[in-house]
Amino acid sequence: MNYKNTHLTRAIIHLDHLTHNMKVLQKKAGKRPLFPAIKANAYGHDAEIIAKHLISLGYTTLCTAHLSEAAELVEKGVNATFIILSPTLAENSDYLLDYDFQPIVSSQVQLQALAQAARRRDKQITIHVKVDTGMGRMGVRPDQLLMFLDECKAQPEIIIGGVCSHFPRADENNLSFSKTQINTFTALKKETKAYNIPLYHIANSAALFALEEAHLDAIRPGISIYGLKPSVSMVVPELNDLKPIMSLVSRITLLKEVVQDTGISYGHLHYTDKPSLIATIPIGYGDGLSRSLSNRIEVLIGNERCRQIGNICMDQCMIDVTQLRGKVSIGDEVVIIGTQGSETITADDLAKKQHTVNYEIVTAISSRVPRIVAQ
Ligand SMILES: *Cc1c(COP(=O)(O)O)cnc(C)c1O
Repeated sequence: MNYKNTHLTRAIIHLDHLTHNMKVLQKKAGKRPLFPAIKANAYGHDAEIIAKHLISLGYTTLCTAHLSEAAELVEKGVNATFIILSPTLAENSDYLLDYDFQPIVSSQVQLQALAQAARRRDKQITIHVKVDTGMGRMGVRPDQLLMFLDECKAQPEIIIGGVCSHFPRADENNLSFSKTQINTFTALKKETKAYNIPLYHIANSAALFALEEAHLDAIRPGISIYGLKPSVSMVVPELNDLKPIMSLVSRITLLKEVVQDTGISYGHLHYTDKPSLIATIPIGYGDGLSRSLSNRIEVLIGNERCRQIGNICMDQCMIDVTQLRGKVSIGDEVVIIGTQGSETITADDLAKKQHTVNYEIVTAISSRVPRIVAQ
């Protein structure tokens, strides 16, 4: 008996779409290596499933935010080179060494701690040095890069595997800020030639599609591998070739006829304006469907768009299926994200209603929702 099969809300992962998307990305990147970002459980898509498929496609370097994410994958048998994007504290240095992870470093404190831990164990560690060309987050200032590289070079335990940076605005229509960053970064590449650093990388998905000058030696795409656009405003035609790899589906667990003026769910945010047929579905904010979407979204049932009504609860929400009377049954499939018949609801549709980005919609889908590979 596999109790996991009893969970009625599921995220279906279409690995054939992942294969397709990687072809689209690789065509843009040419021969350059792609280092896919699979942080935050692969943007909610299940890092183990995604990592193993990427490896089967020949990708050997993967990015996570935290060393715990990469370590969990290693323990599950994922064999890859891991770049750790976010800084950690000195006390975790030994773990980075244990697993041979490649951290991105931009502080003296972390550099010294890594060198010390490596020395103690008679090991070397490969790091990527981050320079802040305009993200305003991690990274040494451009005017400090040479000094920082010298400090790296002074530690025989430290191998500089790359110098990298990041774009805060490459998904916008006006790319002038990003172009200034590229100029800064390529100038630094020239200035640091004598250090023989093998890789300079700065491009995310947006830059892969919109800024060829930023491709350099390697690219770190995230959102686009999952078939989602970095932003709705981007108009690069190849972005339309991407196929979303996740759909979010559920089933109707209850159907009920109610009279006019029935208050629905906590706070009675919705009253029926006529006798209505109401379906209950087992998905709520405990699954990552934000309560702020209450009364604002539609789902697909019987190939039709039906309104979600009343406040979204932790575990359930209600759908007005009056339009489907006589055609709808308990157990019917409900699509929250995905396609049914000729209708489609995208993560972008939900993001717009939630005043956020598609990244947050898919990443928020909670661990309660099983990720099932489409057969
Ligand atoms: C998440 C992340 C990426 C990937 O960004 P996308 O916009 O999802 O392509 C690349 N680089 C860094 C440093 C990141 O944190």
